[in-house]
Amino acid sequence: MERTLSIIKPDAVAKGVIGKILDRFESNGLRIAATKKMQLSRADAEAFYAVHSERPFFRDLVDFMISGPVVVSVLEGENAVSKNRKLMGATNPKEAEAGTIRADFAQNIDANAVHGSDSLENAAVEIAFFFSTREIC
Ligand code: ATP
Ligand code: MG
Repeated sequence: MERTLSIIKPDAVAKGVIGKILDRFESNGLRIAATKKMQLSRADAEAFYAVHSERPFFRDLVDFMISGPVVVSVLEGENAVSKNRKLMGATNPKEAEAGTIRADFAQNIDANAVHGSDSLENAAVEIAFFFSTREIC
C-alpha cells in the first residue's frame, strides 16, 4: 500500500472538473485519504516546486500555481505513485495518452490540470508539506 500526493491545478479547478478528476482516482482503486481546497501563496508554490527553481519555466509555473485555488489530496492504494502518474498522462497534454486526465482536461504544458508525486520518497515529503498526520485517514 502506497500514498501519493495529487494536486488538481488552478486550470482544472476553474473549469469545474474537481469531481470528475476525483472520480478518476476513486474509479481506479485510489482511495482519497485526505483532500482540501486551498489558495497557495507565492512562498508555498516556490517551496513546493523548489526542485525546479533553476529551470527557465519556474517563474511561469509559480505564477500559474497561484493564479487560483487548487485541490490537494492524498491518494492511497496499491502502487499509488505509479498508478496516479498513469492516470494523469504525459506532462505535455499533446503527448498524453487518450483517456488520461491530462488528455481529457488539460490545455497545454503550463496549464496541465494535475500534479502527482513522481516517487515514493517525494510523495512522503509532498504529503507532509500539505497535511498533518491527523488529516490523513
Ligand atoms: P507535476 O510535477 O506538475 O506533476 P510532471 O512531474 O509531469 O508534473 P515536471 O517535470 O515535474 O512534470 O514539471 C513540473 C511542472 O512544470 C509541469 O507540470 C509543467 O506544468 C511545468 N513544466 C515542465 N516542463 C516544462 C516545460 N518544458 N515548459 C513549461 N512548463 C513546464
Ligand atoms: Mg513533477
